[in-house]
Amino acid sequence: MIEIRNVDKVFGNFRALDTLNASIREGEFFSLLGPSGCGKTTLLRMIGGFDEPTSGEILIGGQDMAGKPPNLRPTNMVFQSYAIFPHLNVSENIAYGLKRLKLGRSEEEKRVKEALAQVELSNLGPRMGNQLSGGQRQRVALARALVMRPKVLLLDEPLSALDKNLREQMQVELRHLQRQIGITFVLVTHDQYEALSMSDRIAVMFSGQIAQIAEPKEIYQNPATRKVADFLGGMNFLTASELAVDGRQFRATLPGIGAITGHLSGKEITDPASAIIGIRPERLRIVWEGETADHIVTARVVDRNYYGEMTSLMVAIDGQAEEISVVETNDFGADDIPVGSVIRITYDRDAFIIMQG
Ligand code: ATP
Repeated sequence: MIEIRNVDKVFGNFRALDTLNASIREGEFFSLLGPSGCGKTTLLRMIGGFDEPTSGEILIGGQDMAGKPPNLRPTNMVFQSYAIFPHLNVSENIAYGLKRLKLGRSEEEKRVKEALAQVELSNLGPRMGNQLSGGQRQRVALARALVMRPKVLLLDEPLSALDKNLREQMQVELRHLQRQIGITFVLVTHDQYEALSMSDRIAVMFSGQIAQIAEPKEIYQNPATRKVADFLGGMNFLTASELAVDGRQFRATLPGIGAITGHLSGKEITDPASAIIGIRPERLRIVWEGETADHIVTARVVDRNYYGEMTSLMVAIDGQAEEISVVETNDFGADDIPVGSVIRITYDRDAFIIMQG
């Protein structure tokens, strides 16, 4: 549906996008994920025709989009600051962009009605634009884009202004809506959980470059680089005293932990000296009193954070350079473990990964 080929964007002497390549499939929910300033919005604006690449090509549906203004592209954009006209009612706000299509009154009304239903605002058509809650305004902005029946909907952090509960509810609804209407969605977000929960595939970006494009589970379980691993959920990084990489498997000795095996994440290791071993916090478990486990590691609790159903413990292991995070549900009392105490932990055997640093 969308082909991004060797796209560069230079503002003055600053390179905001550096040789980007990506293919976005028809009907998929695709997210651009990365920290502030990495170039997500710049790329989205170029897909929508609000800006042009300095070099490279963007094709949509097989057609080169060079020089095409936004209204001649099969795209529509929901901006971060969705400006709803306060003096128009909801239906008029949604119909606004349709006027230039000169569809005739009954077709226009049909489309507005359909768009209102899609965003579950059927009863609010006559409500004035300045009498809406944040969530309702967000839905109107969405309906205003959908009413144009784009082949691709571009969404620039559409949920960032909403509070946490509403944002989570809208994430589910947006995903549901995309499935229902079946068009391609391209979402810009810096929120890893939003990207993981909503997307079919994610492009992770840093400093104007794409570090990895893959399905959410692949990105989380097999991050291509340390940066990707860190950006998605805080990977623990471990010090090894011995390391042997064999194809996509490796063996290592980790001071304070012992001999472990694991698998390669991302591309081949070209420089073993700078390779990094990691394990996710939830793949480490506490061994409670009276329990046994094959591999027991002794650790000292240096910090504790309570998250309701879960607790995150920062622990120090003798011989390991960095402190390690362990995430446990609170069923057995992880939330009561005192800071300063010594605990026993174990690990899932297939959970260690290695990646090029
Ligand atoms: P955020 O999540 O904060 O919106 P982003 O990943 O969307 O960040 P962009 O808005 O794409 O980032 O910006 C990428 C970089 O390009 C930033 O360093 C930004 O300052 C710069 N930039 C964007 N637009 C322009 C412009 N018109 N002129 C100069 N620099 C720009």
